[in-house]
Amino acid sequence: MGTLYVVATPIGNLQEMSPRAIQTLRDVDLIAAEDTRHTATLLRAFDIRTPALSYHQHNERAREDRLLAALETGDVALVSDAGTPAIADPGNALVAAARASGHQVVPVSGPSAVAAAVSASGLVPGPYLFLGFVERGGDERRVQLGKAAASGYPVVLFESPVRLAGTLADLAKVFGDREAIVARELTKLHEEIAGGTLAALAGRYTGEEVRGEIVIVIGGEVRTADAGMNPERVVRSLLAQGMKPSRAAREAAAITGLSGSDAYELVRRIGSEQRA
Ligand code: SAM
Repeated sequence: MGTLYVVATPIGNLQEMSPRAIQTLRDVDLIAAEDTRHTATLLRAFDIRTPALSYHQHNERAREDRLLAALETGDVALVSDAGTPAIADPGNALVAAARASGHQVVPVSGPSAVAAAVSASGLVPGPYLFLGFVERGGDERRVQLGKAAASGYPVVLFESPVRLAGTLADLAKVFGDREAIVARELTKLHEEIAGGTLAALAGRYTGEEVRGEIVIVIGGEVRTADAGMNPERVVRSLLAQGMKPSRAAREAAAITGLSGSDAYELVRRIGSEQRA
């Protein structure tokens, strides 16, 4: 029975390729790679001659049988284009199938854009929510962001440079004046970590031609002693669930003890902020 190694690779800086990752990729019989041409560059840099087979989001299912068959006779390594496989990258289904078939799954840990951004943010003292790439628009996006904001936890997400300014402006509407960082091109020549409120960051990147890869980290809600009853948080959460304003106002008044008219005013203000 072969072993499936889940191997993290650099997110930009080749010096972050670990000796164990190099040895594992040399020792296995086959490498399942998100993009074989991309991985070929990495393999050349470290003189790794193991054959590679493509395994990406469009052929995950089709490749599964072949990779499970390969695991019957030897070891397989899974890599993505950069960072840790199966974190907002292909891999989860293969890992699940390998485990279900009784194969050992061994992580060869290393770089991840999520861990790098969180560790350099100073905004995440404890648990956080990782959203990956968020919905691009519409109700789905509003609900997704609304739920994340209502949790009160720090939030980590990926965004492309062309959508950065628009997403920061949307985040400012939903998360209010929380502190955040935009971590760009981590570990690379043009690495930049910009901090500030979401609105300030939206202003900074609006009209700018932004390049590179980006992680956004948003700090948690600063909680008061009665944080569970924070009326604004409660209203955002109710609206994020798609509740009608009149009902959201009634529920918010019942939950927080606000008067009916104050609750309605809060619902009206947050609703119009979110629609703007
Ligand atoms: N599995 C990967 C990991 O563990 O880092 C993440 C894969 S996800 C498809 C790719 C996204 O991660 C990019 O679009 C970008 O948002 C973020 N990312 C990857 N490398 C980065 C870097 N060097 N600096 C900032 N963000 C990065």
